[in-house]
Amino acid sequence: MIKTHILGFPRIGSNRELKKALESYWKKDIKLKTLEEIGKKIREKNWITQYKAGLSYVSVGDFSFYDHILNMSTMIGLIPKRFKHSKNSMVDITTYFNMARGCTIKGNTISACEMTKFFDTNYHYIVPELEITNKFYLSNNNVFNEVKECQTLGLKPKVVLFGPITFLWLAKSSVNKLNFLPSLINVFSKILKKLEKQNVEWVQIDEPVLVVELPQIWKDSFELAYKKISKTIKKLKLMIATYFGGIGKNIDLVLSLPIKNIHLDLVRAPKEIDFIIKNFPNNKILSIGIINGRNIWKANLKNNLKKLKSINKFLKNRMWISSSCSFIHIPITLSKEKKITKKILNWLSFARQKLDEIVVLSKCINSICETDNNYIKDNTKAIESRKVCHIVNSNFVKDRIKQIKTNYLQRNHSYLIRKQLQHKKLQLPLFPTTTIGSFPQTNIIRLARKNLKIGKLNIEAYEQIMRYQILFITAKQTIYDLDLFVHGEPERNDMVEYFGENLKGFVFTINGWVQSYGSRCVKPPIIYGDIKRKKPITVKWIKYAQNNSLKPVKGMLTGPVTILQWSFERDDQSKETTCKQIALALRDEVKDLEKAGIKAIQIDEPALREGLPLNKKDFKYYLNWAISCFKISSSIVKDETQVHTHMCYSQFNDIIAYISEMDADVITIETARSNMTLLNAFKLFEYPNEIGPGIYDIHTTNIPNIKYMINLIQKAAKSISKDRIWINPDCGLKTRKWEEVDSSLKNMVKAAYKLRNYFNKK
Ligand code: GLN
Ligand code: ZN
Repeated sequence: MIKTHILGFPRIGSNRELKKALESYWKKDIKLKTLEEIGKKIREKNWITQYKAGLSYVSVGDFSFYDHILNMSTMIGLIPKRFKHSKNSMVDITTYFNMARGCTIKGNTISACEMTKFFDTNYHYIVPELEITNKFYLSNNNVFNEVKECQTLGLKPKVVLFGPITFLWLAKSSVNKLNFLPSLINVFSKILKKLEKQNVEWVQIDEPVLVVELPQIWKDSFELAYKKISKTIKKLKLMIATYFGGIGKNIDLVLSLPIKNIHLDLVRAPKEIDFIIKNFPNNKILSIGIINGRNIWKANLKNNLKKLKSINKFLKNRMWISSSCSFIHIPITLSKEKKITKKILNWLSFARQKLDEIVVLSKCINSICETDNNYIKDNTKAIESRKVCHIVNSNFVKDRIKQIKTNYLQRNHSYLIRKQLQHKKLQLPLFPTTTIGSFPQTNIIRLARKNLKIGKLNIEAYEQIMRYQILFITAKQTIYDLDLFVHGEPERNDMVEYFGENLKGFVFTINGWVQSYGSRCVKPPIIYGDIKRKKPITVKWIKYAQNNSLKPVKGMLTGPVTILQWSFERDDQSKETTCKQIALALRDEVKDLEKAGIKAIQIDEPALREGLPLNKKDFKYYLNWAISCFKISSSIVKDETQVHTHMCYSQFNDIIAYISEMDADVITIETARSNMTLLNAFKLFEYPNEIGPGIYDIHTTNIPNIKYMINLIQKAAKSISKDRIWINPDCGLKTRKWEEVDSSLKNMVKAAYKLRNYFNKK
């Protein structure tokens, strides 16, 4: 029979056991031994699940207490100096967590390693830090112990290691990263030799960087590295796993590597396979990632089977069947989803269910038995019912998309004309002050939401509490003397879920958690159908805030790209179409806000950048539709209504032209940490509209003082003319405490007074 495996299984536990255990351990409520036992139980459960589902191999080495890239760093002794790890000694879990979360050593605060998003996913990894003196060595035995655990259960492990070249690619370094390769290959080979001694048959080496267009020097390094690696082993067989795209220009390289098994992501790159199988060396195996590890829909098994059979004609059973990538990007199981209607539930497949899909496919390639046949028949029925279902398709929405015209993408007049009207209407001083939207989410707010959920509070009582919060937040802003108010977003649990709940076409899970980083999990909404606004979403709250404020209040919306990006998308229509549907729904909301007398509207797009494709050549296509969607939502307003947008990341250089094309009157961005250096992109490009460079780093408990903030703005004024600068924090204040917000915003406003004074006198 054709062999089966997956690239990795979620490690948070089906009840988020890992999250709970980690947080208890960090609070010192449980001992290390307990944490380790819980980790072991999760691993065992995962293996047994894979085994029972019928996979040929179970994945070992995909477990991690925080992040699998950090696992790799701490396995090869790559510990930044500031963590004071003694040279060449084994790395323990304290150092491991210190790197992930920061710590204090002898009264000094040691900052955590940076964290960033893994390729185009919402998973964050801990960035390895290469320092000139680094010499790698084997610094823990976790993976070998896990192999033993697995073998003790009588199961066959396929070990997963993170590939050396992608590891270096993702690392940061002040010198040429490839200088570190020889030492890395050395320790990597040692690891492989030890696994060989343990009688491991297969090792999967993840090299997702192979889906990126690589500079020649990196390609050469691949060849060199894998030649060396393959020489050090005898019986052990290697698989190189590529995912999140096709291998494109790296095809020749990949096929020439001295590696027995090559894994391809057939979901992301369905076409490349035809060329590859015709040129596939006859001593190699191809692992076909046909079951989507990035989405939650049932696979179309009938189609998949057809495809696999045609591939197998070339490969003659030298083929494995697999997930497109690791399942850490999807929830574990549907079994607890009691709230989703049966109809929709029948269209879904989470990690556990996807194991069955893989196994059925493998069984049916050469012969088909009655039960599998029935399984596939049911699957086909589900797929067909989804295609034609009335809750998925809305002619009204589909027609509306067709009506999008160029005038949907343009404000009436140019920014310079709009600016005069807006500043007059909003009565804005020089250096106007505002915030990004949310104010502290206090226990009262959380309790009210919980009580509403469990039926202890009725909706009227709940809404009354929220109105009270809004009053409180507007009073606070009056005291701070800000220029443009917000309502504070108390009614929003999450900036995407809140909108999803108020739009047709979205469904929510109870337990569909996915690891975001460390112990943090998110529960992305599922977009299943054409999107329509049920009724105005935010208008009553913003209006209430406006009616109770002496200053103008900004309407606050989550942008179409961000809503799409942080949800599970449809697989039956393009991202672009879904995004346009969301954009149209938001356009109606924007119009209603304006009608209700709101003079400024912010549309947040913090996820715009992370939607960027992995290869530069695909940027343009994505950015064109993404920016169009923002404009569909925003450009319906009159000239005198001020459109704001907000983004909280720090790389604008390669997309600044598109940011400018969004034509938001004001953009607020995160700049405090980078000490305004990221404004360079705006200066170089001569960005024409207004900018609010954040001057309060809201990710820390620090209170910025007046001098510090004045300094930052003076720095900013060197890049942007002063009449286009706004004064605001880096991002929303949701996670901060009121004491911190009080002091910081008071300082911020005082800084603005002083700056006005100084510049007006000049
Ligand atoms: N308006 C949102 C808030 O203030 C923006 C959050 C974000 O950028 N991630 O919370
Ligand atoms: Zn932000």
